[in-house]
Amino acid sequence: MTAFSLDPAQTAWCEELRTLAEQRLRPLAEKGEPGRVNRPLVAALGELGLLDRLLGSGALDLCLLRESLARGCTEAETALALQGLGTYPVVQAGTAAQRERWLPEVRAGRAVAAFALSEPGAGSDAAALALDAAPAADGWRLTGEKCWISNAPEADFYTVFARTTQGAGARGVTAFLVPADRPGLTGSPLDMLSPHPIGSLAFDGVPVTSDDVLGEADRGFRVAMNTLNLFRPSVGAFAVGMAGAALDATVGHTAERTAFGGPLKDLQSVAHQVAEMATRTEAARLLVYAAAAAYDAGEPGVPRRAAMAKLFATETAQYVVDTAVQLHGARALRRGHLLEHLYREVRAPRIYEGASEVQRTIIAKELYANREPSA
Ligand SMILES: Cc1cc2nc3c(=O)[nH]c(=O)nc-3n(C[C@H](O)[C@H](O)[C@H](O)COP(=O)(O)OP(=O)(O)OC[C@H]3O[C@@H](n4cnc5c(N)ncnc54)[C@H](O)[C@@H]3O)c2cc1C
Repeated sequence: MTAFSLDPAQTAWCEELRTLAEQRLRPLAEKGEPGRVNRPLVAALGELGLLDRLLGSGALDLCLLRESLARGCTEAETALALQGLGTYPVVQAGTAAQRERWLPEVRAGRAVAAFALSEPGAGSDAAALALDAAPAADGWRLTGEKCWISNAPEADFYTVFARTTQGAGARGVTAFLVPADRPGLTGSPLDMLSPHPIGSLAFDGVPVTSDDVLGEADRGFRVAMNTLNLFRPSVGAFAVGMAGAALDATVGHTAERTAFGGPLKDLQSVAHQVAEMATRTEAARLLVYAAAAAYDAGEPGVPRRAAMAKLFATETAQYVVDTAVQLHGARALRRGHLLEHLYREVRAPRIYEGASEVQRTIIAKELYANREPSA
């Protein structure tokens, strides 16, 4: 067995997930309202045991889940991933009471979670976040705004990162678990290129106490970063799943579509483009699996490897989906075609959870930090 090949049980699990995505989850996704949380879909993820698996899994299992679901149904993949992103801070840093209250509900697909880090003035530079946590007699009052929060404003609870110490950058941020029914918390949906449930949140003196803190006061940025470190390779896995779906469609289409007296695949320039798509997708997959396996094994260099995996896989998926559109011609651009859908879906992962430029900065920083000074 090579270093990064899957074992037979993992391969069979991926097949099973792909079939579930196509046959059980896709029909539910199609019934959902674009841009809204699809609760029947989330409930099905719970009933199928996938949310349970998500919360108990390491980075490699998370990648296999995301890649396989994305291959058959991107909406199911995204619904699952968002539950993980919103809930992992609770798994990682929640108190017994917080875990008892929320984790069984998330596992069952009854509670919808969201991860609220970004703000209008703090995206890539997340440590500049300004949501104010002002001390109050019984805790803090949260005042300010979050935006681009997936699952907002429909989530049942939010993991919210707020500033408890002014001027302290990343060291003055506290993570709170804020149930959606807290007074002063409102939100509104945002209409995006891809039909993704997402919105902004307004905090008008929302009360939180020490019981709502995730981890320790002023140590919340670490909770956010630990969550993103786990999820970063899996964004790459989502991208690999989309690239795989685009590649499958292209192999099928170019084998069957005739032009100039034969199938498109007989034109060497077409066949070579398909070969290039397949090669880059496989390279991205291996980088993602390697980064995830390194995370699970606690090996050194995880930030660099995770950044490389996310960067390469999301950029590759953009290339593969675009080439697939080109090789399908006009039909790919028709509303409702798989590639029309993937063309819209593939864009955002190059921006969220660290834009491609931010990943390059992480990679370069580690390379120079490890440089041996010349004698
Ligand atoms: C579909 C979607 C879902 C999202 N879901 C969530 C969510 O659930 N929770 C949440 O908290 N946030 C979420 N976000 C927000 C996301 O994390 C931010 O969009 C991201 O961090 C980038 O921030 P920004 O959009 O403010 O871009 P900015 O920070 O303004 O950056 C704009 C661009 O500037 C360039 N740039 C930035 N920094 C650097 C740098 N250091 N070096 C070189 N170039 C740089 C890049 O090209 C970058 O794309 C989501 C975003 C999208 C699109």
